[in-house]
Amino acid sequence: MKNSLIIAKRELDLHNKEKEKRAAELVMANKEHIIQNEEKEKQAAELIIANKELVIQNEEKEKRAAELIIANKELAFQNKEKEKRAAELVIANKELVIQNEEKEKRAAELIIANKELEQFAYITSHDLQEPLRTVSNYMQVFEEDYLALLDDNARKYLHSVNNATKRMSMLIRSLLNFSRLSLNTKLSRIDCNQLVAEVIADLETIITTSGAIVEVEELPVLNIYETDIRQVFQNLITNAIKFRKKGTRPEIKIAATPLQEKWRFSVSDNGIGIDPVHFERIFDIFRRLHTSEEYEGNGIGLANCKKIVQLHHGEIWIESVPGEESIFHFTIPNLAA
Ligand code: ADP
Repeated sequence: MKNSLIIAKRELDLHNKEKEKRAAELVMANKEHIIQNEEKEKQAAELIIANKELVIQNEEKEKRAAELIIANKELAFQNKEKEKRAAELVIANKELVIQNEEKEKRAAELIIANKELEQFAYITSHDLQEPLRTVSNYMQVFEEDYLALLDDNARKYLHSVNNATKRMSMLIRSLLNFSRLSLNTKLSRIDCNQLVAEVIADLETIITTSGAIVEVEELPVLNIYETDIRQVFQNLITNAIKFRKKGTRPEIKIAATPLQEKWRFSVSDNGIGIDPVHFERIFDIFRRLHTSEEYEGNGIGLANCKKIVQLHHGEIWIESVPGEESIFHFTIPNLAA
């Protein structure tokens, strides 16, 4: 019995040890579980944070996508507008091309017509000189041979014929000169200050006798047809003195203003002025507003000025208050020499 008790106790001890071992193993397993659990919780917390960030990023992306959609729509709209505008421009361009072609055609026709007119004026004036010279020569011979035999009336008639012949000769020379203007084709770089100073020196006699005051502002250096522009200033200054008001000292001002790619010159006076109804016509050849008795001249000066300015591809016009002043303006583009 005693033995059986010992054996039972041993078994119990063994059993107990087994249980303790088992319990220790369970404790260990538990700890591991706790650690694993903590790891998982940590991971879960990290995942939650990562998730939140993803949600935020997603929201950002959606916002951005929405903005892109709007921007895209706007671009599409702008593109359509641009296409519309481009289509309109293409049409406008085509119209301009047609208009340009028309203008070029018209300009070419005008050049031909102009050349024909110049040739016509040249030939007529040249050919008219010949018979006129014959008339003049015979008048001279007639005067030499028969003057003594003539009475007062006959002498008066002779005088009138001589005057008319001289005037016609002068008109023909002017016409010939006018038709030759475009033949001067060499542009040179000219200091307009010097050119105008020379013109004023040439006109010294009428400037002094009329008591005119000529004021010249700073003028540019330009590529021009020198002799022709000299003639323009000479004509305009002479006219400014010639068409002065009685009893008034002529005051003439010459100035130049730079504009885009051209210069605008002006010659102003305090003379009799011109009625606006004549503004266009005074630039026509042989057009005069006064008789030779009132103011001498042949009505070709301003026609010459217009032709010369047009040869420089510029424009000429007048501004005036009748009885007070006249201002002649003309433009000269910056021409390449
Ligand atoms: P002309 O001086 O030989 O008459 P122009 O062709 O130079 O010819 O001028 C034409 C006309 O224009 C002149 O007859 C005159 O009536 C008018 N005119 C020109 N310049 C002036 C001026 N500065 N003031 C008033 N009238 C002028």
